[in-house]
Amino acid sequence: MSPYRGWPFLSNASHPFVSAVWAVLSHGCLALFIVAPLLWRSRHRVVYGLIAFVGGSALDVDHFIEAGTLNLHRIETLPGGRPETHSVAFVLVLALLTFALCPRSWDRTRRFVAAWAVFAVNMGHLLFDAAGGSEHILYPWNQVDGIPWLLCPIGALVLFGLSWVIARRSSRSSPQGPLLSVAVQ
Ligand SMILES: [Zn+2]
Repeated sequence: MSPYRGWPFLSNASHPFVSAVWAVLSHGCLALFIVAPLLWRSRHRVVYGLIAFVGGSALDVDHFIEAGTLNLHRIETLPGGRPETHSVAFVLVLALLTFALCPRSWDRTRRFVAAWAVFAVNMGHLLFDAAGGSEHILYPWNQVDGIPWLLCPIGALVLFGLSWVIARRSSRSSPQGPLLSVAVQ
């Protein structure tokens, strides 16, 4: 939730609340799109869809932590740009933690799908934010600031495609048939 130079119609420093609402809606809709193939094959697509929508903005909690306040104007105008946790490295850590902390009763396929969903949703968030700059997406390996705008839609489509492949393979490996009943219960 910093100024979106790549999406100037989404943010306005003089209207921080409206900017925050737009950011939540944008991240939520992008998250739903990216994991749509998994949601479609799930028996609990409404609940998981809600989790994906909310999870699409979860990464922005780091703005509040960095700013040390709930003031929307302050969190949207952090002097150093977005916190370093807006990076692929941090998203990878989140996905690995998800895999490791899933309930013991879940099989490897279901744990992998959960970890992928966390990775894909947060990568979508990173791509959207990075299209406007003010984000060290490759921290700590590289201090590159943002990405070319076109990489955001292309990256989102790639993530969608990978979700589609994972959904198909997971449903095939599920002993309960094609509803992905084990992988995405
Ligand atoms: Zn963000």
